[in-house]
Amino acid sequence: MSVPPSQAILVVEDEPSIADNILFALEKDGFEAVWVRLGNDAIAAVRKGRVDLVVLDVGLPDRTGFEVCKSIRAFSTVPILFLTARSEEIDRVLGLEIGGDDYVAKPFSPRELVARVKAILKRTTTAHLEATRTVASSTALFVVDETRRKISYVGTPLQLARYEYLLLKALILQPERVFSREQLMNQVWDSPDSSLERTVDAHIKSLRAKLRAVREGKDPITTHRGFGYSIVVEER
Ligand code: CA
Repeated sequence: MSVPPSQAILVVEDEPSIADNILFALEKDGFEAVWVRLGNDAIAAVRKGRVDLVVLDVGLPDRTGFEVCKSIRAFSTVPILFLTARSEEIDRVLGLEIGGDDYVAKPFSPRELVARVKAILKRTTTAHLEATRTVASSTALFVVDETRRKISYVGTPLQLARYEYLLLKALILQPERVFSREQLMNQVWDSPDSSLERTVDAHIKSLRAKLRAVREGKDPITTHRGFGYSIVVEER
């Protein structure tokens, strides 16, 4: 099964033999793969051009993958798949502050990696048609621009971290549906874990702060005590 040739994967890995394997597997599956060895080159590549997903090694010669991810997150919501060599890195990868989307632990099979890449891309591009539906109404509070991974609120583009974007989008796509924390976790996070449900609350809190910064005194997100959250998407 091949993918459209338009999907470009940036591979950031300093070990040529590992990079070779990844590039080969990605290209065999129809992806356009670009290899860089250094973290700074990766940041420049994402800034400069069209990158649909970044495969990012944690251990790089110039900067750690974590630092690189944070730098990228300052200006882009491009999906990031970490390559980790040590299990203790995994907790950090999945932590709130890093902003990675998923990880593959070394050693891994190239097939496994490609499968993970596809899963992430699929999740980030589905629901595009549903998203554009919310644009149609002139009283819409939100506009979701799936291709640029941006959401506007009453005409103001929001600066959202990756999970904030995914969480807000999930709520918007089903207006007024009451989601439990677990349901949101399952929809938005790659490795849902019920012990991380407070993570949902933390992201809702930061989302609310960003919405409030655009429009004081109005909160489109409703908390349903003991259950979860819903959103209204129309001006009333
Ligand atoms: Ca390395």
